[in-house]
This record gives sequence, C-alpha cells and structure tokens, in this order.
Amino acid sequence: MASTYPDANKSVKEEDVSFRDRLATVDDAGKRKWIFAQKPKGKFYRARTICSWFFFLLFIGLPFVYVNGRPLFLFNFPSARFILFGKIFWPQDFFILGLGMVAFIIFIILFTAAFGRLFCGWVCPQTIFMEMFFRKIEYWIEGSAAEQKLLAGEGWTVKKIRKKGTKHIVFFLLSFIIANIFLAYIIGVKELYKIITEPVSEHIVGLFSLMLFSGIFYAVYAYFREQACTVVCPYGRLQSVLLDKNSMIVAYDYKRGEPRGKYSKVAKVDLGDCLDCFQCVKVCPTGIDIRNGTQMECVGCTACIDVCDTMMEKTSRPTGLIRYASENGIETGEKLHYSTRMKLYTLLLGILVMILATMLMTRKDVDATLMRTPGMLYQERGKDTLTNLYDVKVVNKTYKDVPLTFRLEEMNGRVEIVGGNHILVHKDGQGAGSFFIALPKNDVKKRTTVIRVGMYNGDEKIDELETKFLGFVDE
Ligand code: SF4
Ligand code: SF4
Repeated sequence: MASTYPDANKSVKEEDVSFRDRLATVDDAGKRKWIFAQKPKGKFYRARTICSWFFFLLFIGLPFVYVNGRPLFLFNFPSARFILFGKIFWPQDFFILGLGMVAFIIFIILFTAAFGRLFCGWVCPQTIFMEMFFRKIEYWIEGSAAEQKLLAGEGWTVKKIRKKGTKHIVFFLLSFIIANIFLAYIIGVKELYKIITEPVSEHIVGLFSLMLFSGIFYAVYAYFREQACTVVCPYGRLQSVLLDKNSMIVAYDYKRGEPRGKYSKVAKVDLGDCLDCFQCVKVCPTGIDIRNGTQMECVGCTACIDVCDTMMEKTSRPTGLIRYASENGIETGEKLHYSTRMKLYTLLLGILVMILATMLMTRKDVDATLMRTPGMLYQERGKDTLTNLYDVKVVNKTYKDVPLTFRLEEMNGRVEIVGGNHILVHKDGQGAGSFFIALPKNDVKKRTTVIRVGMYNGDEKIDELETKFLGFVDE
C-alpha cells in the first residue's frame, strides 16, 4: 500500500518508507520480534470488552440452541451437511450455497470499502480471543508489558518457571475448551457429548480432532499471535486492494500532529499536536507505528486511539489525533460521516441479503431428482399399455419422515411404485426408489413424450417433476 502522506507534509518521515519492506514483527536478521503490547485503557477498549462478552456468549451458546431437534447452526464439512438458522443444506443446495458465498464475498468487499477493518477489530474471533481473553490472562499472570519483557529477559528462575508454566497450562486448557466449542459447530453438541462421555476406543477420530484443534488454538494464541492476522489471514492481506482513500480506518491526523515533538509546558508554535511519546506504538498488538500511515498490519483494534486520547487529555489538547477517519477526511479535515458512498454500499448489501433470504425462504424442503432408469427402453404391457421405468432420488430437509406418492399430472395413466405404495424418506435424510409409469398406447403419439409427475405427501403436492416417456410411433 502506498504511503498516505502528501508531499506537503515533509516533516513526516516520507522518505523513510523502509518499514513497508518488512513486517513490524520481523527484525533486520529476519527473526521474529516478540510484541509486548501495553494494556489499553479507554472508551473504545471498554466498548470492545462489552462487545466481546456478547461475542463469547454467542460463540459458547449457539451450539446449544436447537430448533425442532436440529442445531441452529452446524457446519459438518466431513459429511457435507450444513445447517443455517435451523435449515439443512445438502450438496444439492450447492446453488444456494454458491450464491451465498458470492453474496458473502461481495458483502465483504463492500463492507471493507466502506468501513475498513471494523470487523477485524471488533468481531474477528482471532482478535477477540487474543486481546480480550489470552492477552488479559497474560497481564494477570505475568504482569504489565514492561514486566513481561523483564521476565522474558531473565534466566530460568523459579519465578519465571512458575509464571510461564501457569500461563501455558491455562492457555492450553482454554484452547481445549475453545476446541470443544469449535468441534460442536462441526458435529453438534450431542455428538460432542458422546465423545466426552463414551469410551475413548469408540471415538478415536473425534478425540484426535479435539486434541488437534486444541493444539492449533494453543499454538496460535500462545506463539503465533498477530502473525495469524499479518501473515496468514487472506482478508488481512487483501486490505490493500479492498481499501481506498474514502474507507473508514484507524488513522493518524498528520495534518494536526506534524511536526511532532516532545511535550513541553511552554507552548511551541512550530510543533503539531503529536507528542512523539510512542504510546501508540507501545500499545499496538501488531507492533506498528500508525503515524506512518495505513498499514496492512493494522487490525483496527482502536488501542492507539484510546492511548493517544489519554495523552491528549493529559496535555489539555483536543482528543482524536488518532481516530476513525478516511484518508481523504484527514486530508480535507472533514469529519467522518455516513457518506453517500456508504449509503449506496449499505443499500447494495441490503439487496444482497434480501435476495439470499428470498432464496432461503423459497427453497424446497423436499428435493427430488427423477430420471428414466438408464439402459431401459419402453415395455409393452398387454395390447393397450406402454410403460417406462424411472428412478427417483429424494432429499428430505424437514424435521419429519415423509411418505411420498407420485401422480401423473393432466394425463391419463398411472404411477406404480416398485415394492409398495409409497417411498418413505426419513427426516434429515435421503431416499431413493423406482416406479413404472404406465400410459395408454393411444396417448403416446411421439417417440419421446414430455410428462409431468406430481410428488405428494398425502394430498399435499410438494413438487412437480418433468421427465420424458419413451414410446414407439406406429408408422
Ligand atoms: S500516542 Fe498520540 S501523541 Fe503519542 S506518539 Fe502516538 S500519535 Fe503522537
Ligand atoms: S495501529 Fe492502532 S488500531 Fe491498528 S493494530 Fe495498532 S493499535 Fe490497533
């Protein structure tokens, strides 16, 4: 991403853009620089803490919400079975899922173009768990950022072993709990309960998955940390193409702040408001200096806004030197407002959501595929009847078993189900069956006749299927 500083502001280190050549967490030798981020304090941090409580509540509670015996959400990738808002989706719903994905991607593009990394800072599980859970535990066990740094530099004393040991045990236990909840989203709480309570030998794969997820979460939160956002997360890496100069970002007001200079009780007219106190850098969990402009590593956590506001208040300056703003807003001094562009994007997002909701609501609960049995031609039955054999495959997405019958629509003839008078498809399941369609010879006027077959549950017509009937034509 290009530097955000205009030529007019020479006091900003605009020539020195080497910070863009490598990650803030990597030193000259290419080694990882551990970030000892100061604990933030302030109104944004308080608001994010409250937001995170809702998030934790939702994350932990959702797998336990069942509707008509079905989880509200389930993402069973291994068996390609998904439940969204209590509605089950099979691979046959690929079209809706595909469209949903496209709508979701457009949503992300529009949302990011308008609101920047608001999601990363306030809702992303990686940030929320790291900053509001693991980092707080770290402050609690190892102390402030300065104390953590001192501890890291110490030899392996008893105190260090005790603190580090306690922290990593707690981290692993938390990761194990998170892994359990995460697995509940994939297999459901009932299956998870079985893994926990039944003999290990019966759930080797489940247990292995549980330990694997625990290990991954532990490694991410104990060691990998901000690298997940700056190196792995594709959303983070796409910021340079998703953001533009009108996007809302956490931005430093260089017009007001530069030239920066140390605080002095005697007002210096030639200096801007930035006290060059480096508090915004010390508090940043990704180790960047937001005064250098928009950077890929910024996860929009607002910690620098809070700390800078505190510094401004302490020195009786107006707050908001670092604030939510757009690059153009900083340049022109315009306050961030709900712009026409944002309104347009919100409208587009609304339309997308409505299209998706309509598709979900009009989706068939019982979906069938009807085909003539491969390799079979027509059969003559007696002197006046022709038959064709058909295979039907049905997916039942409802909460109850459905006994299906079939009738010919607007046509003489009958449907004869092989092996009974209906095809039973169990709830949340798939079923298959075969039936003959018998037509009077006189009604078969062409080699191929298009026919429509009604699919019924009792007297309720569920769907109408179109197929072809093969016959002969008397020359
Ligand atoms: S916290 Fe504010 S005043 Fe201090 S260096 Fe950062 S921008 Fe400047
Ligand atoms: S620059 Fe500010 S908002 Fe961005 S990650 Fe660092 S502290 Fe958070």
